[in-house]
Amino acid sequence: GYKWGMAIDLNACIGCAACTVACQAENNIPVVGKEEVARGRSMHWIRVDRYQAGARTLFQPVPCMHCEHAPCEEVCPVGATMHDSEGLNVQVYNRCIGTRFCSNNCPYKVRRFNFLQYSNQNVESLKAQQNPEVTVRRRGVMEKCSYCLQRITRARVEAEKAGRRIQDGEMVTACQAVCPTRAIRFGDLNDPASDVVAAKATPLGYDLLAELNTRPRTSYVTRVLNPDPELE
Ligand code: SF4
Repeated sequence: GYKWGMAIDLNACIGCAACTVACQAENNIPVVGKEEVARGRSMHWIRVDRYQAGARTLFQPVPCMHCEHAPCEEVCPVGATMHDSEGLNVQVYNRCIGTRFCSNNCPYKVRRFNFLQYSNQNVESLKAQQNPEVTVRRRGVMEKCSYCLQRITRARVEAEKAGRRIQDGEMVTACQAVCPTRAIRFGDLNDPASDVVAAKATPLGYDLLAELNTRPRTSYVTRVLNPDPELE
């Protein structure tokens, strides 16, 4: 099977937020106003955090970590968030009863409660979701980054037609596809030739909040700062 993972190089990220916009377009996520965001009602599945270090602004895109030990799963009373056979943390919309326990227990704060009268009308993406449990998003249920599950399914169909596994670079998430600096890598961690394996293996690779032992599938490459800001 596949073992999907993402690596985000913080040296490359320029904080343009194209990833956030592309994710909204791909996954049919409404853009909510500033007032709603201020009330904690943002709906986007990948955010770009900003940190100020002296004169420098540092950026960190944060999608779902697809934790191997996922704190969200332990607290869901109805099993609406769970691991699939390839280790993806999936949200089963039609089981979710909207308690938001998962969101409270997510240390990365990447889960989003759908508070709008809104459902996923992206027919192509619905067709691509072969798991019958994964159904239409709607008001009152939790959502989050799926690693573009519909794209994974499409890539799988193409690869199976050709009688082989999905090759590196054939499965690209929406955020990865638009990133102008190639900060985002995605691929199969079981493929030693994959770009994402190489990115994770650098000595600068790290997991966010690794001390919590969540074992995230999304990891980062540490930003290396030049001691002299003028030289950056
Ligand atoms: Fe960073 Fe790429 Fe996202 Fe822009 S699109 S914020 S460079 S990860």
